[in-house]
Amino acid sequence: MNTSGDVPLPGLEFAFQPRPDIVIPSRAYSSQIAPTAVTIERFWNRVIKAPGNGCWIFTGAVSGGDGYGRITWRSGGLSRTMSAHRFALLLAYGDNTTGTVGEHRCNEPLCVRVDDAHVIPSTQTANLRYAVACGRAGAHRATGDGRTRAERSIAVRAAVLSGWDPITYAHAAGHTGHAHTQRLF
Ligand SMILES: [Zn+2]
Repeated sequence: MNTSGDVPLPGLEFAFQPRPDIVIPSRAYSSQIAPTAVTIERFWNRVIKAPGNGCWIFTGAVSGGDGYGRITWRSGGLSRTMSAHRFALLLAYGDNTTGTVGEHRCNEPLCVRVDDAHVIPSTQTANLRYAVACGRAGAHRATGDGRTRAERSIAVRAAVLSGWDPITYAHAAGHTGHAHTQRLF
């Protein structure tokens, strides 16, 4: 009764049996491997720097979840993925920052400038306290203007890809308030 191509229900489980002829490449993950020279170069090649004391915007991959930049690299058959700002902290401080979070004093999730006014090592508790003080508690999902953090980050990345322009950036970042205008110009 079966026509060719039909899968009889009683035999369905056989579709999930291991196939020894199919080799699935292992993707061993490590939280230990150090950044390679090539990765560090690739990272900085994707950073657009605002002049003066401004943000340094990472223009590589953006996480669809939290809206942070993402960087993945491989070394010795292992791979490691980090948020771009955590990667910047790793370059600045080494793995001493394990267990801490990167706090954005500048409130720009794509910023990778390790500086007291931008990205600093912090604790989860202090980071949350700062977020509340800035009125951005729960900001991992929302930006206050109807966009997700990822949507905002993708807009910011697109705005700076061809070079830094404060007006284009301010629009993409959603900085339309008076205070921001005064600060930017
Ligand atoms: Zn910044």
